[in-house]
Amino acid sequence: MKYISTRGNASPLDFAGVTLAGLASDGGLYVPEYWPHFSEAEIAAMRGLSYADLAVRIMAPFTKGTLDEAELKLLCEAAYGRFSHAAITPLVQLDHQHWLLELFHGPTLAFKDVALQLLGQLFERFLAQTDKALTIVGATSGDTGSAAIDAVAGRERTEIFMLHPHGRISEVQRRQMTSVLAPNVHNIAIEGSFDDAQAMVKRMFNDPEINGPLKLTAVNSINWARLMAQVVYYFAAALKLGAPECRVAFSVPTGNFGDVFAGYVAAQMGLPIETLIVATNVNDILHRALSRGDYSVSGVTPTQAPSMDIQISSNFERLLFDLEGRDGSAMAARMKWFEQMGKMVLSADMRKRAKLFQSVRADANETADAMRWAYEQCGQIIDPHTAIGLHGARSIEFARDISVVTLATAHPAKFPDAVEQAVGIRPALPRRLGDLLVCEERYLILPGDYETVRDHILASAAGPAVP
Ligand SMILES: *Cc1c(COP(=O)(O)O)cnc(C)c1O
Repeated sequence: MKYISTRGNASPLDFAGVTLAGLASDGGLYVPEYWPHFSEAEIAAMRGLSYADLAVRIMAPFTKGTLDEAELKLLCEAAYGRFSHAAITPLVQLDHQHWLLELFHGPTLAFKDVALQLLGQLFERFLAQTDKALTIVGATSGDTGSAAIDAVAGRERTEIFMLHPHGRISEVQRRQMTSVLAPNVHNIAIEGSFDDAQAMVKRMFNDPEINGPLKLTAVNSINWARLMAQVVYYFAAALKLGAPECRVAFSVPTGNFGDVFAGYVAAQMGLPIETLIVATNVNDILHRALSRGDYSVSGVTPTQAPSMDIQISSNFERLLFDLEGRDGSAMAARMKWFEQMGKMVLSADMRKRAKLFQSVRADANETADAMRWAYEQCGQIIDPHTAIGLHGARSIEFARDISVVTLATAHPAKFPDAVEQAVGIRPALPRRLGDLLVCEERYLILPGDYETVRDHILASAAGPAVP
């Protein structure tokens, strides 16, 4: 499989290439040259496979030419071996129509582990092969950071610099990153928002002063391998609920449009998905874009679902690329305009082509109401991100024979204050997290100034010296 840039002006790469590269050199994102497709019979034959075996079936077309199925299987088994639930992503029933897909049984308690545990394995595999070393630079709104750090801590060939918005993530989220004291892990708190931190990371990729001496790699959801890994649980859930004969709708709490884009990929591959609900909090650029065609930036409001406090959703560019008929030069012009003006319009025609998606926005009260409904009616304690998804799922009416699955993206104990406020119970951290709340932390606070952050990374990176 070859990968091409959404802006049409970067050399195509193979799977190992896109895994290590992150952003394309023309500023675009890599996507597969075409969407692989499974027939109904092929999908029916996936029923009953273990999660790792299903992952191999789904991912094999994307890794073709780089990894064979036996190698892929070993990597999947290693990646999913650290989950605390044998089903990896179990389904929990709420009522006659609604289900939760629990994606938080990995080491850092959010769905990001599903992809990043695999990405850590892929990095090791590809770096060992080429005898190279990498510097990972990332920005996190909370959960990517800890999941990425867990996946690479203590490794020899990777060094990680993780930027987070100072004071805007929960204490558990911060401690899950800053308590990792491995020498290859560097945490930086930026005085600013997540978007400020992400803009710095993007700029570093296009800045030869840093991306020359250091070989930079991205681990945020612009990395294709992450999205690919997330396609698997859409298949896993739908198969359990009767696919391909039965159709399933998914409601996805959305920030960077990564997780829900993986659902779109599953649909392109032949999974019969009724609807993908893009559930946002009050930072609702995606809801405005999909419901009215208004994709315009308007500042970030901090909420109780910090991993969704995002205004520019990087992966939306991947959907736009398809909606533009996969025309790279039209996309380059569109994105240049957007970067200058901070807004773009989706034509009625493009919105028609995006009809698989519906969008719903939840404010603070609606989020708390969803947490209360799950607890009082179904005995489930859910986190605020999941609650936004559940609000979306319950806001849209579906035919009786459609199962509606809300992606439960984080363990409630990651956001204990919000949960306690809504349902009066403080969720406990799972025992396997140990003494997280009292152990030593290490991180640096830097002003939101690009040169300061870049120069700090350049000065403290061990560099690309290969062992
Ligand atoms: C990252 C995250 C999201 C948003 O996922 P995207 O792929 O950025 O849309 C939602 N919920 C939680 C708990 C997250 O960590």
